[in-house]
Amino acid sequence: MSPSHALTLVAATRSPHKLDEIRRILGKDPGLRVLSLDEAGIPFSPEEDKVEAFDTFEENAKAKAAYFNSLCGAATIADDSGLEVDVLDGAPGVRSKRFAPVPEDVTGGDRDRANNEHLIKLLASHKPHRRTGRFVCVAVLHFGMGEPLVFRGEAPGTIVLEPRGEGGFGYDPHFLDPDADRTFAELDAEEKDARSHRGQAFRALGSHLRETLHY
Ligand code: IMP
Repeated sequence: MSPSHALTLVAATRSPHKLDEIRRILGKDPGLRVLSLDEAGIPFSPEEDKVEAFDTFEENAKAKAAYFNSLCGAATIADDSGLEVDVLDGAPGVRSKRFAPVPEDVTGGDRDRANNEHLIKLLASHKPHRRTGRFVCVAVLHFGMGEPLVFRGEAPGTIVLEPRGEGGFGYDPHFLDPDADRTFAELDAEEKDARSHRGQAFRALGSHLRETLHY
């Protein structure tokens, strides 16, 4: 299929890391073209930060997809994701991005570092076998009419106190994949996508599109 016949999907995220991963996962499909919000002509607005105000990944992902769909009119895909740690009763969960008590203007790698330090402080007194959890991703596809479609991915793992690896983003250096016996930051991009919560959710979304649109 030529790119001009590809279905355009606008990725409702400002995270360059998430966008890269979504593009890697869906980008192999010649029937799909993934646009960033900038490429779709949607400049940042402070309103965006008020959209994900819910207590579940699904509600937040649906809210992001609906908000950006209303601005661009094109089919929109959204991702709400985070880390759940059992001994912390599922925290950081939907608050993963804003887990550490740091000012709002701390962003990017600095915020990731603060979040990781906060997580490790809370887990330091727990033995390794108690530091279990999972990454969760809920991907939503919104065409602007009908009900949005929801796809969920989960990757189980344990939290290591010492960071390992240079790849990925967010909590990856502390998230040990039990099968690979490496952290997500030690996996290369293809290995992470094959196992990750985001890989599972967006592959399911891509399969759904192929099956329903018959391309
Ligand atoms: P969201 O933008 O509200 O979905 O926040 C997602 C947050 O969860 C990110 O800022 C990261 O802290 C964390 N997170 C989600 N997915 C990943 C991942 O694949 N690796 C590491 N951290 C992740």
